[in-house]
Amino acid sequence: MRRNGSMAILGRLIRAKFRSISNCFHQTKNLIFRMHWAAKRFLKLKQRSRRGWQRRLQMANIGFIGLGNMGGPMAANLVKAGHAVKVFDLSADAVAKAIEAGAGKAATIAEAASGVDFVVTVLPAGKHVLSVYEGADGVIANAKPGTVLIDSSTIEVDAARKASELARAAGLGAVDAPISGGTAGAAAGTLTFMVGGSDADFASAKPILEGMGSNIIHAGDSGAGQAVKICNNMVLGVSMIAVSEAFMLAKRLGLDAQKLFDISSKASGQCWSLTSYCPVPGPVPTSPANRDYQPGFAVDMMLKDLKLAQQAAASSGATTPMGALAESLYALYSNSGNGGMDFSAIVKMLDGEK
Ligand code: NAD
Repeated sequence: MRRNGSMAILGRLIRAKFRSISNCFHQTKNLIFRMHWAAKRFLKLKQRSRRGWQRRLQMANIGFIGLGNMGGPMAANLVKAGHAVKVFDLSADAVAKAIEAGAGKAATIAEAASGVDFVVTVLPAGKHVLSVYEGADGVIANAKPGTVLIDSSTIEVDAARKASELARAAGLGAVDAPISGGTAGAAAGTLTFMVGGSDADFASAKPILEGMGSNIIHAGDSGAGQAVKICNNMVLGVSMIAVSEAFMLAKRLGLDAQKLFDISSKASGQCWSLTSYCPVPGPVPTSPANRDYQPGFAVDMMLKDLKLAQQAAASSGATTPMGALAESLYALYSNSGNGGMDFSAIVKMLDGEK
């Protein structure tokens, strides 16, 4: 009896011990879990505050001039990135849209350029950029020393070099930073910037360009960005005509446009004009072909770039017969009253429409 009683007591003691070991194990597990969670949370908060600091450190005052198809969404993206942006454009509508997006208004070019760290220009052509830069009311005379001028218009290499010389002579930084990626890229903040300028000016401009694009590439000294841009757009002008011809040939052969797209976009005919900017309605929902060829990138803008490429080819002695033919075809289409259409509308001319 006594022996049985002792065994029962021993059993109770062992069970109690096990219970306390198991409790202890659970408590330790809980403690480790909580410590792990707290450490993770601490690291996350630290990371977040570092990012906040970085963003605050990179926040700049920016004057923005030229709020068209490209400049409008680019200025809005700079606001979204946390910069203080004041805008100027000849069009009151364009200014109103930018203000709606959170920008401030500058009443004049001089006001847009004064007291800022950067001035971004996105204007139609070289003559506009130089006229905005020069003169007593212009950007250069009114910017404080050290301001960096970023010109993202597509202009002549010589005009870009002249603009940067004028800026440097006045103690300012300057880069030519033309863009590729169309209005969709401008809205999404995924533009490619091809940048010409000194290493120091490139380094200053890069964080600002990152607020508007995803590929920021230093092409070389002043003018090099524009040189890359006109070469690139000569490829674009020629390839858009080639893709358009292929769709018109397919149509005459009774081939479905979607079938040509599906196969060619996975074969050797694959290119941006086909897969991102298809000139016929249907295959690429975001392409201007689906909105009656509203630009986008206007015929006259493409014609301007092809002319710039031909001028550069003539002055440098390069042989560019396909570029010359593309220029003639776009000039023909523009002269029939279509300069304001998207450049992919050239497919309609090839289809026999005026
Ligand atoms: P856009 O015609 O839509 O816009 C130009 C803007 O500049 C207009 O709002 C106009 O009012 C303004 N402007 C003209 N002169 C001015 C002045 N003196 N002061 C203030 N504002 C002035 O042109 P966009 O399509 O936005 O193109 C702008 C530049 O970007 C061009 O050089 C073009 O070649 C280049 N680009 C355009 C595209 C595109 O897809 N649209 C793509 C790549 C590069």
